[in-house]
Amino acid sequence: MSRKIIALILCSFLLSSFNIKVQAAGEEEHLQERMELFKKMEAATQIPWYYLAAVDQYERSLRFARKDLPKPENPISIYFPASEWAGPLNPNPEDQNPKTITFFEGIGADGNSDGIADRNNDEDVLAAFSHFILNYGIDKDNFRIALWNYYKRDKTVSMIMGKAKLYKTYGHLDLGGKAFPLPSRFNYSYKNTWGDARGYGGRRIHEGTDLFADYGVPVRSTSYGIVEMKGWNRFGGWRIGIRDINNTYHYFAHLSGFAKDIEVGQTVEPGMLIGGVGSSGYGPPGTSGKFPPHLHYGMYKDNGYTEWSFDPYPYLRVWERQDRQKKS
Ligand SMILES: [Zn+2]
Repeated sequence: MSRKIIALILCSFLLSSFNIKVQAAGEEEHLQERMELFKKMEAATQIPWYYLAAVDQYERSLRFARKDLPKPENPISIYFPASEWAGPLNPNPEDQNPKTITFFEGIGADGNSDGIADRNNDEDVLAAFSHFILNYGIDKDNFRIALWNYYKRDKTVSMIMGKAKLYKTYGHLDLGGKAFPLPSRFNYSYKNTWGDARGYGGRRIHEGTDLFADYGVPVRSTSYGIVEMKGWNRFGGWRIGIRDINNTYHYFAHLSGFAKDIEVGQTVEPGMLIGGVGSSGYGPPGTSGKFPPHLHYGMYKDNGYTEWSFDPYPYLRVWERQDRQKKS
């Protein structure tokens, strides 16, 4: 029940095309500013900019997904609670003096050399996280260890490493683009079935949208992302999971097979072929044909602790429209 309420709130808040446009415009403004801050910090510390970008993007997504964290306002979104910034035993939790913060083992730092360690200042925030990383080292293995010690969660570490790989591969921060999973030149149909009791998904409620199409119709990645999972599942059949830069997991099930060269850990981009529509599942590996061919598409959000399903249908409608506009 509460899950449905959360979904409703998310929908009304995020899903009007007006909001999506506004958010996209704001994002682009910040991208340049953000990149300049990362590059400046890279020059000062030798920490690759894409590591800083990956942590920042992970934290930004958490702040959008969680109610207990303030919504991001600045270009840099790494969040430090006051006590962590000033030091847990610091009698002044709003302390901005770098010396006393260091004395009380706070993480706060002065990145722009104004003598103040301000947890609402982007350069100070980036410097604080960079100093933490420098305690370990700036190569991949040490960065990974630093992340683990900071977050104490394997999944978070691998999500951040995935983002770092994406940013490094593409060389820029603008990786929010999306595509409809099926090419518009093929026949298909879908309607909003999220939350239905029945569905060809094998879960308690139907956590996704079923897109009906013929066998072999191309299935494409909807986002930039990292292939997190690929293989057989008794209910999902041949399926692929892709994690995008917003900590969202995109799940494609009942495929007829996979695109050549698609492997776990690789980067994908919107519109890239990942497999074909099929009817695999509901039995041992290779079982097929127990229901009409369709793509089961699910979306799951991670908030740093747990992951939950939300309704992909409104997003599919937006991406479908955007794909068609690009073509015309
Ligand atoms: Zn389904």
